Amino acid sequence: MLENSLSSLNESQKEAAQHIDGSLLILAGAGSGKTKTITTRLAYLISIGIDPSSILTLTFTNKAATEMRERAYSMIDTTIVNTPPLLCTFHKFGLLFLKFHMSELGRKNNFIIIDTDDKKRILKSIDKEITTSLLVSEISKYKNTLISPSEAKTAAQLKIYQQIADIYEKYEAYLLKNNLVDFDDLLLLPYKILEKNEELAKQISQKYQYVMVDEYQDTNELQYKLLRKLCLTHNNLCVVGDDDQSIYGWRGATIKNILNFSEHFENTKVVKLENNYRSTNIILNHANQLIEHNRDRLGKKLIGTRKEGDSIKVYESSDENEETRKITDDIKKLIASGESAKDIAILFRVNALSRSLEEGFNKAGLNYKLIGGMKFYERAEIKDLIAYFRILTNTTDNFSLKRVINKPKRGIGKTTIDKLDAKSLELKKPIFNILEDFEPDELAAIVGKKNSRTLKVFMASIMDLRDTMEESKMKFLDTFEDTFDYRASYDNVPDGFDRQANIDEFYGYIRDYFIQNPHLNLEDFLNEIALESEQGELTDQAVSMMSIHSSKGLEYKHLFIIGLEEGFFPIIGDGSDIEEERRLGYVAITRAMDTLTLSFVHSRFYKGKRTSLLKSRFLSESGLIKGSLTIEKTSSYKKGDLVQHKIFGMGRVQKATKAGKDYKLTINFGGTRRDILSSFVEKI
Ligand code: ATP
Ligand code: MG
Repeated sequence: MLENSLSSLNESQKEAAQHIDGSLLILAGAGSGKTKTITTRLAYLISIGIDPSSILTLTFTNKAATEMRERAYSMIDTTIVNTPPLLCTFHKFGLLFLKFHMSELGRKNNFIIIDTDDKKRILKSIDKEITTSLLVSEISKYKNTLISPSEAKTAAQLKIYQQIADIYEKYEAYLLKNNLVDFDDLLLLPYKILEKNEELAKQISQKYQYVMVDEYQDTNELQYKLLRKLCLTHNNLCVVGDDDQSIYGWRGATIKNILNFSEHFENTKVVKLENNYRSTNIILNHANQLIEHNRDRLGKKLIGTRKEGDSIKVYESSDENEETRKITDDIKKLIASGESAKDIAILFRVNALSRSLEEGFNKAGLNYKLIGGMKFYERAEIKDLIAYFRILTNTTDNFSLKRVINKPKRGIGKTTIDKLDAKSLELKKPIFNILEDFEPDELAAIVGKKNSRTLKVFMASIMDLRDTMEESKMKFLDTFEDTFDYRASYDNVPDGFDRQANIDEFYGYIRDYFIQNPHLNLEDFLNEIALESEQGELTDQAVSMMSIHSSKGLEYKHLFIIGLEEGFFPIIGDGSDIEEERRLGYVAITRAMDTLTLSFVHSRFYKGKRTSLLKSRFLSESGLIKGSLTIEKTSSYKKGDLVQHKIFGMGRVQKATKAGKDYKLTINFGGTRRDILSSFVEKI
């Protein structure tokens, strides 16, 4: 089996896949088989007898990890695999690590992972003045560059940065007190632990003798440092990457990690791959033309290996509705011609663009799957349920308790919550314990008699539910509904139907999780979905829609990229980086295998108003539009195509031969054959 896989690689790929000890850098452009090569290497290492559990492969998305595992397994005799190799995202690895070693920081391992939305709420509760998104990104930057709150305070010169550092300190204290961890902590805390405990670092490094990383161009300083720890006792790190696809600069990813790899890890073997196996030549050429406008690049060779292919289509529409109509029409035709929906994707730079697409798809009755962007787990009703379940597993979670204390409504207002908060702070005791431990009279002294009674009833229900959960994971959802009538609270309210559908879907998902994983508990489930919610899954038979960031490493036979307008793609203005935007363009185009359609509109409805737009510079930079005005005639023709001629009407193509930019067509117009140049007809 493996022999076949190895023989399907070219010489350089084979050399890399069979490399065993020592550091290895595979540096190559899009679609050159980097991921395929390290997948084969994983299978190769196992096949020569290396213990699978000593191999760690890190990827950026869950989907990439799953795919890689399936492919590697298909290459080897899996009966010889006792413990499977660990193949996961950096964040998942961090989570697994913390589950075992959180106690090194004096913290319990029943922590809860918070998502971006939670993070914003916490920051808002600490400070209402400074823009939350600024706080989110600045604090994330501090964490990813290992700057502690006190260091941030010392370094802060401007008043605003002193304030941010102060909020950062409070935020960290809040997380600690409620035993919460944010996404950055999933990398930062493992690093801190390994930094503190050299012995443990050695042990972990001994455990993972072979480490591989896909998409290394998007790692940041902290990830690099973590990798150093993992490779403390050996040098067996293999990374693959492409400087032209570095698209997480805004999150602190640094291309320096690739550029300096050979210095960071001694005796590095460097392998370059120069053939692109993914895209047709036409697609590849336009991608190359675009990226050549960047100055700051290593400049690699990428040679096409596939046929010329169909020319790229460019759609010009007056607005987003027309754009959507054209695309849904095309997709219907593709599916009618036998293509599978899962081979089709639509990409956009700005998430908000998905809304009109979704509407259009619903109208057209097309199945779609939105990856990233809209997040199931960020819907209010689902977040409420998650908050309920969190307090069942973690009584110190004030944050979640406050979210559901009045849901469904039980007459507990903000003033009462503030009083409880103050008391919790004063006594250094979670609200949960105050509600549970205080006698009704004592509680009444804080929140009044009526509230005290309500809260005591609420607590009794929660405690009962905890007991039920211990007894039966399956039963507890029913008990939860019987007690709180949460689902029923959406009866007869506007959009209640959708919300109840979401709730049902969520309950179904939990039940299924427990059936599939009988040994796992609610807390495992909560952590699992916290990671999943950042990405969504990609399994259904549906057309995929996603941001370009989410499309990294993926490939689709038929690809549409929408929103090619200045301001939308590239995003222009404060903090945007045109070279990174162009790399995003390169990533987007190189996802396409067979056909590619780009689309721009004259105006979009955005943020409450209709805005006129100019087409993206990327269209001319990639050679798709000459100058800035005319659109290249982009249709290709073949026998059987239907065409429309202004005078002769509708006809069917009998023969098509390329003639310069055009096609020479022989067309049958209702029995009369005529030879006509393609620029005089419209393709239907
Ligand atoms: P990206 O930079 O976008 O992540 P990549 O370098 O990881 O791309 P892969 O996804 O591994 O590239 O491969 C791209 C496509 O080319 C896949 O469909 C893969 O199966 C195919 N491919 C790779 N190597 C070969 C080869 N030697 N012969 C034929 N097909 C190949
Ligand atoms: Mg790849």
